[in-house]
Amino acid sequence: MESVRKKRRKARVDETLCVACGCCVKVCPLGAIAVVNGLYARVDTARCVGCGKCAKECPASVIEVQEVEV
Ligand code: SF4
Ligand code: SF4
Repeated sequence: MESVRKKRRKARVDETLCVACGCCVKVCPLGAIAVVNGLYARVDTARCVGCGKCAKECPASVIEVQEVEV
């Protein structure tokens, strides 16, 4: 039987290292990343398509795009 599980690429922010600069927010084409309370960026995984634009833009290199099962 075929598995119904699929793998999707999603961005993940290391919140302890994020400097809340907002660069990732500006480049996300889907508006899937936001800076929460001016403290750190958080990804809305329901919207994120794993394009990696935010990860490339992050000056602190604290965003990783990972494969996750959904
Ligand atoms: S990986 Fe792409 S879609 Fe996901 S948060 Fe980053 S820029 Fe947005
Ligand atoms: S670009 Fe990087 S350091 Fe800046 S808010 Fe986004 S995750 Fe944080």
